[in-house]
Amino acid sequence: MAGLWNVHRHRMLSARATRKAEPALRTEGLRGAGRYWDCRTDDARLVLETILAAGREGAVAVSYARVAALLKEDGRLVGARLVDRLGGGEVSVRARVVVNATGPWVDTVAALDAPAPARLRLTKGVHVLVPRARVGNRAAVVLHAVKDGRVMFVIPWQEQTLVGTTDTDHEGGPDVPPVVEAADVTYLLETVNHYFPAARLSREDVTSAFAGLRPLIAPPAGAAVAPSSVSREEEIFASPSGLISIAGGKLTTHRLVAAAVVERVIDALRRGGDQRRFGRCRTGTVPLPGGAAPPDSVAAAVLSRDGNGLAPPVIGHLADRYGSRAGEVLHLVAADRRLADPIVPTLPDPRAEVLEAVEREGALTVEDVLRRRTQISLREESEGVKAAGEVAALMAGPLGWTPEAARAAAESYAAVVEEGRRRWR
Ligand SMILES: Cc1cc2nc3c(=O)[nH]c(=O)nc-3n(C[C@H](O)[C@H](O)[C@H](O)COP(=O)(O)OP(=O)(O)OC[C@H]3O[C@@H](n4cnc5c(N)ncnc54)[C@H](O)[C@@H]3O)c2cc1C
Repeated sequence: MAGLWNVHRHRMLSARATRKAEPALRTEGLRGAGRYWDCRTDDARLVLETILAAGREGAVAVSYARVAALLKEDGRLVGARLVDRLGGGEVSVRARVVVNATGPWVDTVAALDAPAPARLRLTKGVHVLVPRARVGNRAAVVLHAVKDGRVMFVIPWQEQTLVGTTDTDHEGGPDVPPVVEAADVTYLLETVNHYFPAARLSREDVTSAFAGLRPLIAPPAGAAVAPSSVSREEEIFASPSGLISIAGGKLTTHRLVAAAVVERVIDALRRGGDQRRFGRCRTGTVPLPGGAAPPDSVAAAVLSRDGNGLAPPVIGHLADRYGSRAGEVLHLVAADRRLADPIVPTLPDPRAEVLEAVEREGALTVEDVLRRRTQISLREESEGVKAAGEVAALMAGPLGWTPEAARAAAESYAAVVEEGRRRWR
């Protein structure tokens, strides 16, 4: 489908070949299939690795820092006032150029600069995870939703199958967190059960469910456009005071979009009198920090050195997640063998990953560790809640938490997860 640019060429399969490839797929009316290649990523880790790469080039990245106001002099933007969302302090930062890349909050931040009509239409997307043995899919399969014909996917994720997504309008703006409703789960399971008749999934079979907001460019006022038909393209625009905003777009195109934003920043600097020569954009050729070697060769090299006593599946997992940075986690294990124990019994992630997250990856909350550094809360939501106390206790050392603060952090994480589950269970 990506023409000659894809990793492999697509192929058409006969009905027989399709049945062989996906024996659990509904056979009624099956005439054949097209097989094509696509890529996937761990979105939070891609963002994190990009931030680590920026740090290596001299950038300062600060999480939980909310832009509460934009600073202006003579009508031009000169910086921003930041509020520490965890500690509550404030700091003002001066900048020659300010970029508003706040996804669903682009309109909110643009409004701090000047009143402007909303650019975004927010839609909610829900995914659920179910046991793969029940679905029986071998590869990722594209389906059309039973209810409305929208395109959906079932995607293998080790022992589980990721099913998604929904696409419905989100009311209340970006500060109202998207929640998984029972109707979202029903919509997804209905389609899986139709195409994989032996699955017979019900809500009780769902191991976790999560929702996100898509920051889409709103169609012209008055145009009746269904959520899934709204454009996924991006728009870059600058305000009279100099705020550069990037709205819409997809993760897939993030590097190209970022390169276009950087061009706008360079233009703004030049207009402000900056005489420097800026080199060519290198985003397509510079590997991310963990990307110095492919995971297979990282794992093979570690195993050839006895793997620090960790089992091969754990080594494979670390090589997949950290790539050439896997050695950082192995060093933690070498220094303290207890860190080799898994965080939850059903997943390979060793406890050393909690310390890696805090010490090198800027994790400040239990949710940072369980959802955005590891994927435990996505893959094993209940086990993650059970492990929250132990995770908080491990975080307490490097973050200087008292035992009470660690307990409160774990309880607050568990409460948020339970509240999310209550809506669809
Ligand atoms: C269910 C779902 C499925 C998707 N599937 C795909 C897919 O298959 N392929 C694909 O390419 N894309 C997909 N997308 C879209 C993709 O996830 C988004 O396009 C992408 O995450 C947008 O990135 P962003 O950096 O613009 O926004 P975000 O990732 O939302 O980041 C915005 C950041 O700005 C911060 N922020 C907000 N306000 C402030 C403030 N005042 N001060 C400081 N910081 C602030 C937020 O905390 C956040 O960290 C999907 C989205 C969803 C919801």
